[in-house]
Amino acid sequence: MTRVSFILWALMLVTWCVMRYPAMRRARRQKTRVDRRSTLDVSLLAFCTFALVVMPIAWRLHLLDVVADRGQGLLPMILGTLTGIAFLWLFRRSHKDLGKNWSVTLEVREGHQLVTQGVYAHVRHPMYASFLLWGITQALLIPNWIAGFAGLVAVLALYAVRQSREEAMMRETFGAEYDAYCARTKRLVPGIF
Ligand code: SAH
Repeated sequence: MTRVSFILWALMLVTWCVMRYPAMRRARRQKTRVDRRSTLDVSLLAFCTFALVVMPIAWRLHLLDVVADRGQGLLPMILGTLTGIAFLWLFRRSHKDLGKNWSVTLEVREGHQLVTQGVYAHVRHPMYASFLLWGITQALLIPNWIAGFAGLVAVLALYAVRQSREEAMMRETFGAEYDAYCARTKRLVPGIF
C-alpha cells in the first residue's frame, strides 16, 4: 500500500512538471517591469522545493528517520488521489488563465494585464490554492508524519509571506481596477475565505 501510494504521489509530481515546463520556458522570454523578488521569497521557494519534492523522495529512500512512519490505509490513499486530481486541475486552469502574466517570483511584466476571468473570477489566488491542495495530497499519500506534512507547512509559509506583498504590488500597478476586483472576490475559497 505504501509503495502504491508513493507511485501515485510520483505520478502527480511528474504530471505537474510536464504542465509547468512550457510556462517556465515562456516566462524566460517575458520582460519584467517591476521586480519584487526578495531573499525571503527566494528562500521560501527553495524551502517549498525541498519540502514538496526532496523530502518525500528522501523518505522513500529511507534517508529520513523512520520513527515518524504511519501505516498507510486505503481511505487516505483514495482521498489523496482525489485531492491530487483537484490540485492538477486547478493548477492547469490557473496557469492557462494567467498566461503570459505568470511569474515564479513577484514580478510585473511589460504589458501585464489584470486577469479577472476563468478561475480568477472566483478567487484571487487559485494557483496558491492549488499548491495548498498539493500539500494536502502529500500529507495523505506519504505515510510519514514529517515527510508527509512538510509540503503543507512550506506552502503555508510561502502563502503567508506572499499574499499581502503580491496584493500590494498588484494594487500599486492596477489601482482602482484591482480594488474593485478584490471587492468581488475572496482569496482562496470562493465566497468563504
Ligand atoms: N497569486 C496568484 C498568481 C501566482 S503567480 C495565484 O495564486 O493564482 C504570481 C504572479 O502572478 C505575480 O508576480 C503577479 O504578477 C501575477 N498575478 C497575480 N494575480 C494576478 C492577476 N489577477 N492578474 C494578472 N497577474 C496576476
